[in-house]
Amino acid sequence: MSDVLVQLGTKGTDAVLDLTRNALTDAIKKKGKDASISFPETNYYLPLVNALLNLEVKTLNDCQRAFSEIEGLSQGIATKSTLALSIMGGIFNKGIATLLSEEILAALLTMEAKHPQGGIGFIPDKILRSLGLQLVDGRIAGIAVILGPAKDVDSAAGLIRNFQSKGIVSLLAGNINGNTFAKQLEEKGVELGLENYIVPLGSDYLSAIYAVNFAVRAPLIYGGFKPGQWQGIAEYIKNRVPAFVLLLGHVDEVIVATGLGVLAFGLPIITDLDVPQLGKIETTLYEALVTESDYKKLASKCILTRGIKVKVAEVDVPVPYAAAFEGERVRREQLHVEFGGKASTAFEFLSAKTEAEVEDGKIELIGSDIDTLKAGTRSMPLAIIVEVYGRKMQKDFEPILERQIHRFVNYAMGLMHVGQRDMNWIRISNDAFDKGFRLKHIGTVIHAMLHQEYSAIVDKVQVKLYTRDEDVERLLKEATGVFTERDERLLGMTDESVDTYYSCLLCQSFAPNHVCVVTPERLGLCGAYSWLDAKASFEITPTGPNQPIKKSAILDGRLGQWQSVNDFVFAKSNKTIDKVSMYSLMDSPQSSCGCFECIVAVVPEANGVMVVHRDYSGMTPSGMTFTTLAGSVGGGVQTPGFLGVGKLYILSKKFILAEGGLKRLIWMPKELKELLGERLIERCREIGEPDLAQIIADETIATTSEELIAHLTKVGHPALSMDPMI
Ligand code: SF4
Ligand code: ZN
Repeated sequence: MSDVLVQLGTKGTDAVLDLTRNALTDAIKKKGKDASISFPETNYYLPLVNALLNLEVKTLNDCQRAFSEIEGLSQGIATKSTLALSIMGGIFNKGIATLLSEEILAALLTMEAKHPQGGIGFIPDKILRSLGLQLVDGRIAGIAVILGPAKDVDSAAGLIRNFQSKGIVSLLAGNINGNTFAKQLEEKGVELGLENYIVPLGSDYLSAIYAVNFAVRAPLIYGGFKPGQWQGIAEYIKNRVPAFVLLLGHVDEVIVATGLGVLAFGLPIITDLDVPQLGKIETTLYEALVTESDYKKLASKCILTRGIKVKVAEVDVPVPYAAAFEGERVRREQLHVEFGGKASTAFEFLSAKTEAEVEDGKIELIGSDIDTLKAGTRSMPLAIIVEVYGRKMQKDFEPILERQIHRFVNYAMGLMHVGQRDMNWIRISNDAFDKGFRLKHIGTVIHAMLHQEYSAIVDKVQVKLYTRDEDVERLLKEATGVFTERDERLLGMTDESVDTYYSCLLCQSFAPNHVCVVTPERLGLCGAYSWLDAKASFEITPTGPNQPIKKSAILDGRLGQWQSVNDFVFAKSNKTIDKVSMYSLMDSPQSSCGCFECIVAVVPEANGVMVVHRDYSGMTPSGMTFTTLAGSVGGGVQTPGFLGVGKLYILSKKFILAEGGLKRLIWMPKELKELLGERLIERCREIGEPDLAQIIADETIATTSEELIAHLTKVGHPALSMDPMI
């Protein structure tokens, strides 16, 4: 490594440590040693300090303990945490000490409400959890930490569009004389926000620490690593967190010191500055520090340097097309035309046809297009009829393919798609219209994407778009009949009625020991994979993450254990899990990766279970929030008494059957109850407890176990008279 970098880095480390030391002394003087300090909604205290030093910082006193270790580390002294990297002449110790120190500094400034400015600051655990699936299925290909503004606003917009189209999420920090990358984007009218893959962390360089302490939680949440296992944690980040730093326009000694810390985790730095280059080093996969001054080449240089695999969709439409645009909204002010929702009758329907009935690539518009809207109108009726033929196509796959229309249409920039079937709602923005987007392009998108993602089961696709009232109404009647048939068929499917279950191993790229077993009555814990989805996915990619598990003789019907399932899980969990009960919370429950929609947890004192979903941030009667509970459930390990599940599993007849099923449910957040709505009430009726849905408590009734027990006793909840759970 060049001497210049080492000298600058050393100065930077000293500067950051000085700042932190002073801030800490001040804070203690003002608030006392016992004043508490924390980041919002995390189970990992100050995550970097927690992960690397195995310290749980809760007070300023804890900060001081951590800080004295950090000072030692910066001098290369192996402390009790034995964190001291000998490689690269020990220079990384300074880098890591800088990062740790910056985390404490950021926490101190947050405590004083001086930080962050111009961004979201600390990223809560639940965001990392919610991104899990997008990371494993490739919709998010990588994470760019962009420091500083681009050389001009057009370059900023160009760069970000390039990243978006390649599935790269950008985290923004830093400024030059007040100018930030986020401001540049706003000036060009680019919409910010996680749903658009652009997250401003804060306008100072210190805010970059939020990207680091975000990344360091991945090995803790998904990888099953424990705080203090810093070597494994660093390896995990290097191999599994596809992040890199893009440094623009400005560098100083603090940035160099920070950069050294980042390099220690194997994350490369790409810059537009003329600095000494650094080839592959011990910690990185490829080059460590690379200059690229041509902004047009910057994005691909970043991707190459980090070794990121990008999936780009080849779709011939006049607007940018990528997963990054999936969450984008089209607001009323931007609206050219809308279909469905409250505005008009609309629906989408996909069915399998014979070979002779389908002409591949044929897209027909029957009725008028969106450039003939009458003055003052903003809506039209619309029927999207997709017809496919495939040698390996099955009737069962129709709803699965149909459900993808939502995603496919949303990927187009300037289009918004909500819902499915006859509950869809589509908006097209003025901007997309001005760029030349017309109705037939919806067909183009569906045709191209079905071929791209489902070529194993789809050979030919044609799309018909109807916009005349009478056509839409007539076709809707036919479709509704089929929707009902499909629902009935799905309801009739039980674990007993099939001879094969499917695995899902998709999350193993983050949680290497985790295996989901998906059955007709129990979907994957992320909520995204039903048994049919997994089956279709196996047909599409026979060597992929969804493998058939042929049911063998049953070992235990109450627990839901089969020898073949146990054997499969043992083999695929790297021999860490030898038994799995499909229907039990207490006895060998399924492991969790980290991206579960809900957690089911035993409340022993009330002889029942509670369930909490990811969006609920309040307290639960278990004495823990979702975030805290989640900390003990992930990482691909079994935790009896705690279970990550998909929302719909709550409605399954197999829901914790071994513990007595739905009757055990004593508490859930109001929002979740409303979400399950009628279906929950119906399930309660089915089990002969018509009042159950009503007497299950929520946060308006109880947030402590005492309140909960009082309520259950008052209403006579059935759980109280069931067999003891423990
Ligand atoms: Fe991950 Fe399980 Fe969902 Fe598959 S089903 S994506 S393994 S959580
Ligand atoms: Zn997962």
